[in-house]
Amino acid sequence: MKSLLSRILVLLLIGVVANIAVAWLIEIKWPNPTSRKLPMPPDEAIALWSRYFPPECPFYAERYRGPAQQLDIVGFGDNVLNVAAGSVGWPFLALSSESKVDEKGRFSSYFELDAVPGRINPLPLRPVWPGFAVNSALYATMAWVFFVAPFDLRRRLRKRSRLNRGLCSACAYPIGVSPVCTECGEPLR
Ligand SMILES: [Zn+2]
Repeated sequence: MKSLLSRILVLLLIGVVANIAVAWLIEIKWPNPTSRKLPMPPDEAIALWSRYFPPECPFYAERYRGPAQQLDIVGFGDNVLNVAAGSVGWPFLALSSESKVDEKGRFSSYFELDAVPGRINPLPLRPVWPGFAVNSALYATMAWVFFVAPFDLRRRLRKRSRLNRGLCSACAYPIGVSPVCTECGEPLR
C-alpha cells in the first residue's frame, strides 16, 4: 500500500516535471504565438488592464492563439506602456507569465525570471488551472504506460509461469510441501 502510494507520487512528480519541461520548450522554441488573432473577451481584457493601469484610460486588447500558446496584449496603442500576458502548455495551457513594457520599451517582469532578450514574454512560472493539473496527470499516465506497466506485466507473467511449473515465484526454486519457499522464504499461498 505504502509502495503503491509512493509510486503514484513519483509518477505525479514526473508528470509535473514533464509538463513544465514541455511548456518551457515550446515557449523557448516558439516565443511568439502569432498564428491566429482572436478577439479577447472584454471581461478578461478589463481584468488584465486594470491590474496595471487606471480603468478609465482607453486601451486596446489583442489575443493571439497558437497550437500550444496564447498571448494577450493590452496597451495604449503605440506599443509602449502595454502589458503582455502569455500562457503556454500542451495539450492544455498550463503555465503563464505577465510582463509590462515601460516608457522606454523595456519589459519589467512582475512574477517571473527576467525576460530573455528577443522574447516577448519571460519564462512562464505561474500555473494555469485546470490545465496544469490535467497535463501533469496526462504525462504521469504516459510515464506509467511506457515505463512502468510493461515491467509490471512482464513480472506478473514470469511469476505465473513459474507457479505453473511448480517453482517459487520469487526465486524459481522448486516448491515442496512447505507453505513458504524453503530457499528464499517467499509465501507460496
Ligand atoms: Zn523462493
